[in-house]
Amino acid sequence: MNSTEWKEKLSFIRNDFFNSAIKSNSGDISALETEYIGRKGFLTFLLKDLKNFSLEEKKILGPLGNTLKAEITDKISELKNKFGSLSSSGLKNDFDLTLSARPYPKGSLHPITQTINKMTEIFLKLGFSVAEGPFIENEYYNFEALNIPEDHSSRDMHDTFYASIKDSKNRNLLLRTHTSPVQIRTMEKLKPPLRVISPGRVFRRDAIDASHSFVFYQIEGFYVDKNVSMADLKWTLETFIKELFGEKVKLRFRPSYFPFVEPGAGVVMPCVFCSGQKGTCPGCKGTGWIEVLGAGTIHPKVLKYCGYDSDAWSGFAFGAGVERFAMLLFGIKDMRVLYENDLRILKQL
Ligand SMILES: [Zn+2]
Repeated sequence: MNSTEWKEKLSFIRNDFFNSAIKSNSGDISALETEYIGRKGFLTFLLKDLKNFSLEEKKILGPLGNTLKAEITDKISELKNKFGSLSSSGLKNDFDLTLSARPYPKGSLHPITQTINKMTEIFLKLGFSVAEGPFIENEYYNFEALNIPEDHSSRDMHDTFYASIKDSKNRNLLLRTHTSPVQIRTMEKLKPPLRVISPGRVFRRDAIDASHSFVFYQIEGFYVDKNVSMADLKWTLETFIKELFGEKVKLRFRPSYFPFVEPGAGVVMPCVFCSGQKGTCPGCKGTGWIEVLGAGTIHPKVLKYCGYDSDAWSGFAFGAGVERFAMLLFGIKDMRVLYENDLRILKQL
């Protein structure tokens, strides 16, 4: 092929392309692109032929070929714009807007996550911030600093998973049995006044049944400031429960014992399953009341462990099982529903 023939061929490709472009519709554009400037396109082949020409000829023919390539590229993108972004697959013209939509399975947050979020949100509004801590703890943070010394009988209540190794200070390592160690870790790091909650996973050697599991969630909270009293605790917990279950819910505080508070209280609310009607309700075991929180004013010894002057500062602490709240909020009677992850049930929650 000499340079005249090459130019004729170029001109032929130009006419051919623009004729096709005029007639094209949304489905043709990709094909058109491939046919002319694709890897094996007409123009691509012609441009490859340039290598057989002399340098002088290349200087003339090269720019001619490149100009056409630019024109074709411009035209293709103009057509793509005209027919919309879906033009290459031709979908836009093929849409039948009258067809009913195919159901699209949508994910959602697990009820436990939803419950943690709801509970956390209320405390954030009350000025609390959120802290987290490690799942693997040592005895000091899980027990000792919370006023539970080694020989203390309440350690038996925490059926603990111990690790077979110790930490660098020769303390037993374990899976935390409650989120209270976060309270100690936070107080060690920060100066009062403090308002903190710590939601998280905890572990106990419990068999799984309708109300127990070896891994479950707690939310622990505490407030340390000057002159904090049981009255502050009561107001805070009442506000929290009313936000969750409505204005009419009445709480009862009953004396209870937790080593890290003094005095301690168990907080109960009317059973949501039988509306406090008692009888044979399994939700409250026929008592009409459900214990939802453990709480109290922080034991002065715990404040001292964290380096706080217990004469100057006082505080309250509370803890709640997240699963209990999830069951009350979603009307679940068997906790195992929350762990089995049966999509047919989770979809309803
Ligand atoms: Zn009941």
